[in-house]
Amino acid sequence: MKRQLKSYFYGGIHPSDGTDKLLSNQTPIKYYVPKRIEISMMQSIGHVSKCIVDIGDRVTLGQLIGIPQEFGTANIHASVPGIILDIIKVDDEHDGVYDVVVIETDNNFDINELYHNKDYSKQLKDISSYSRETLISSMKDGGIIGMGGAGFPTHIKYETNKTIDTVLINAAECEPYLTCDHRIMLEFPFEIINGVNLMIKAANANKATICLEDNKADAAKKLQEILENSNLPIKVKLLATRYPQGGERQLIQAVIKKEIPIGKLPAELGVIVSNVATAKALADMTFNETPLITRCITITGFVNKPSNYMVPIGTLLNDLISESGGISIDGDNKIIHGGPMTGTCIASNSNGNGLIGGVLKISSGIVVLGDEEIIESPCIRCGRCERVCPAGLAPFKIDFAAIENDLSLCDKLYATECISCGACSYVCPARRELAWRITIAKNEIFNQRHKNGGK
Ligand code: SF4
Ligand code: SF4
Repeated sequence: MKRQLKSYFYGGIHPSDGTDKLLSNQTPIKYYVPKRIEISMMQSIGHVSKCIVDIGDRVTLGQLIGIPQEFGTANIHASVPGIILDIIKVDDEHDGVYDVVVIETDNNFDINELYHNKDYSKQLKDISSYSRETLISSMKDGGIIGMGGAGFPTHIKYETNKTIDTVLINAAECEPYLTCDHRIMLEFPFEIINGVNLMIKAANANKATICLEDNKADAAKKLQEILENSNLPIKVKLLATRYPQGGERQLIQAVIKKEIPIGKLPAELGVIVSNVATAKALADMTFNETPLITRCITITGFVNKPSNYMVPIGTLLNDLISESGGISIDGDNKIIHGGPMTGTCIASNSNGNGLIGGVLKISSGIVVLGDEEIIESPCIRCGRCERVCPAGLAPFKIDFAAIENDLSLCDKLYATECISCGACSYVCPARRELAWRITIAKNEIFNQRHKNGGK
């Protein structure tokens, strides 16, 4: 693999000038309670929990409604109090069969009461009475998963038997348009630092570093002000604004200055990486007995009132588009679930009314963009994709192998190391859909390995 060091990690790009983030990061988080929610038993791609409630049941806020049925899944709780109106069975050709629980929200539910005016939102908490085991159980009970997009159950990471030195808190939020992590750092700084302190204990680590890109200096200052008056082993570090700074491996390269060996996990280097919203979720569960039932999500792009919203998990995407004033572009559009670089296109040329499904624990944003037809042309061997690939791969070579359906060659070219960041496709002058084809090849290789017992 050829590698080129740029910025603080290999490769990378500047996909925007930052003005896209200004659409939504200038105003406080809005709080929204829908009349009806739809909570999916698949909260991260391909991982399905088992529904344990029935139509007609009354559920209380935070009641357990889904339990793990396979590795990689987590508890799921009622994110509003109310009555279960329906349980929809979804049969998806990619993701399999799973239930979606539809709940009609009680009229008197006020989401604001969940989080404001709590002692851990105003001061640093003494955590000496919590043991590592209690905190890992809290993560498990609270259904806490990585909220940066991966959706992996947090307790599994922290149960490691490796010696952990450092917890890295991923607050880079390097995707264009998304600002939900930025806003929660500005508005929930005590919760976050209290949560990070708990994570240090849960990992039996020595210290933590909260890592932000330097386009969020105001949030860094806010966190730093709290830490200055404490003796907590937590640092705040500003990193270059460069995509994909928030990739787990890229963050470790940038901060720890070490590379994770191929096929290994960060714990091999004595590191655990957790998203900043996940730290807040742990504080909410530990100090407020609130499982992961809400999240902050950015609704932005071509909508009339871009903003961040704190909403119950399961809030309908249609409702959020409508709450944001509706779609503001007349021409062709596409709606992305997640960020524009790594998210999934869930609709094209939509008026915002026909979106299916609700907010997941991993939903960082809904971004409405203009759309245009992409016409691929033959590769001109310019090498740009190779120069920007943060994984040090040769995307054009893997792409050729993928088109030939030669998975063995894809594997030899380390397709499984692709982090699906999309940087290669972004810079390709021939507009080749490199990331898309390489990601499909990567997933197919993993599927085959799984069928062959991991080989
Ligand atoms: S999508 Fe994969 S191959 Fe393309 S730049 Fe990112 S890591 Fe490299
Ligand atoms: S950037 Fe596009 S045109 Fe250039 S080498 Fe890569 S695939 Fe080929």
